This record gives sequence, structure tokens and C-alpha cells, in this order.
Amino acid sequence: MSPEEIIRQREQNSDIPFEGIDQDIKAATAAAKEASQPLIASVGYKAISLEDLPSEGKFYPRNSEISIRSAQNQEIRHYSTIEESDPYDVNDKIGIVVEKSAKLKVGPTQASWKDVTTEDRMFLFFAIRDLTFPEPEQQISMNLGCNRSCMGTPGSWNEKVVINNQEFGYYELPENLMKWYSEEERCLKFEHPVLGGTFRLYAPTVGVTKVLNDYTRRLMQENKAIDKSFYKVAPYIIKDWRGLDENKIMHEHQENLKWGTDKLATVEALVDKFKFGMKTDVTRKCGKCGVEVSAPITFPGGFKSLFVVSSAIGDLLGE
Ligand SMILES: [Zn+2]
Repeated sequence: MSPEEIIRQREQNSDIPFEGIDQDIKAATAAAKEASQPLIASVGYKAISLEDLPSEGKFYPRNSEISIRSAQNQEIRHYSTIEESDPYDVNDKIGIVVEKSAKLKVGPTQASWKDVTTEDRMFLFFAIRDLTFPEPEQQISMNLGCNRSCMGTPGSWNEKVVINNQEFGYYELPENLMKWYSEEERCLKFEHPVLGGTFRLYAPTVGVTKVLNDYTRRLMQENKAIDKSFYKVAPYIIKDWRGLDENKIMHEHQENLKWGTDKLATVEALVDKFKFGMKTDVTRKCGKCGVEVSAPITFPGGFKSLFVVSSAIGDLLGE
């Protein structure tokens, strides 16, 4: 299919909100080249069922496909330079693993990894890890213990919990929020006369979040004031990372400043509820007293240890 045909098909098929996915001709040309080879058949790629994602695929165009492969040496080497103490760097390095090893496709078109929602990205990151290191001895685990004096013996119960995608809890999209979900527009579409009619909230994507993070990071370095209210809601009100630059951010900010306090407070509260990502705690029932025990998920050895093959160094040094 030629780029022109793809564009014509996009225009005809109003079911697919293509405008949010890919508009430039270059992408269409690349897609035309690849259209004859189904994505899933690509060597080493494994399809991810969209329903398994934290987003359940609800915020991607209907005919989206996501697939992953195991991380290659080059990405692992790059990842191993991660600076644990710098959250921006941790975020970037996680992003690179997902960028290199995950593919998003909409119909015949190769979309960008930047269209993946931030919450799904973490899921994909751990799915890629499981695929890269399938051996049980490379699983990451943590200890969870009961601190109560259960059955008269304090701290006597503890369990080794393997940390992987099956183990993470994920927030479910709240029903009272999802009643505003627009199947057609793949976002939340609210109506309220007092708040000025219709407004939309989008699931934050990797691309939008990255542009905003880079910008606020620069503001901080320059000791400039940051409007926290705006940057809290910005990833949810800006639909697309394409064309998002400093001017566009400033324009969105100006629009946001015109909101009444009612609308700002409402949107901030909605954004707090619009969570479907990973829970950062792991929970178990104590095997002795039955009480629920939970602890924040930690990775022994930090984020770095997630993509470093540690068994060889263990063998050599007996650690
Ligand atoms: Zn107990």
C-alpha cells in the first residue's frame, strides 16, 4: 500500500482516530514497506494481549497491536550505566529498554513507542525482563515478614516474594470514572455545564510525559518557578507529543490559567483517580496470624540489578 493510499484509507475510516497516532509521510512510507510482513511474525517478537495491560488497551486505537522481544546486549549495556540516584536517568533508561524492545502498531502502520501510556510502559518493561531472563534463578525476589507478635513469636513468619508482572498489583480504572470513557475517542470525555461543557482527559503517554519532564527539569535548573497545578494535570490534558514544544506548553499553560478554580480543583481530583498503574506495595496474608502484611516493593541491588546478569559475578566471587 502506498503512503497516499494509507492516508486515503485513514480519511475514509473514521473509526480509527489516526490523527493522534501518526501523520507524517515518513512513517507512512516506512509502514508501506513493512505492511506486507505481519508484525507478530517478526522474528523473536511476542504479542502482548492488550487486555493484559494495565490500560486494558482502552486508550489506544482499536486495531492496535503491541509486541515485545527480549532486550539485546546493546540495550543492556546502555541500561547498566543507570544512575540510581537520578530519577530522570532511571526514567530514561527504562524508556530506552522499552523503546528498543517493544513495538506498537496501529492497523498496518508502525506507531511510535512514545504513544504507549506511561503506566503500560512499566508493565512492558517487566514483561521484557521476564522474556530476557526466563531462568528461575534470575528472578528478582524480596522478603516479606509479619512484624506482629503473631502466635506469640514476633517476626517469625516471612515469605520470599518473586517480583514480576504477575506479582505487582495494578490499580483498576474506577468504574465511576470509566462511565465517562469514550469508546470512540479513546479517552475520558466529561460533560458538565458549570465547568464549561465538554472537557477530555487522556491517559498520559510516554511521549507527552517526556517532553513535559524535560521542560520542567530545565525550569528547575534555571531556578524558575513551576506551576505545580498545571504540570500535575498537563500530561492528562495534552493529547499528543507530536508538535509539543515549549511554545505549545506555554500556550496550554495560558489556557489552563483561564480555568476557574472549580474546574482546576475538579480536574486535579479526577487526575488523582485516573490511575491504572502498578501498585508499589506487595501484599500477603501472614501464614500464622492471617493479618494482611504489606511492604513497598524494593529491588535488592536497585533498578540496575534488573537488567544485569548477576549469576556469573556470583559464581566468580561466591556471593
Ligand atoms: Zn503474623
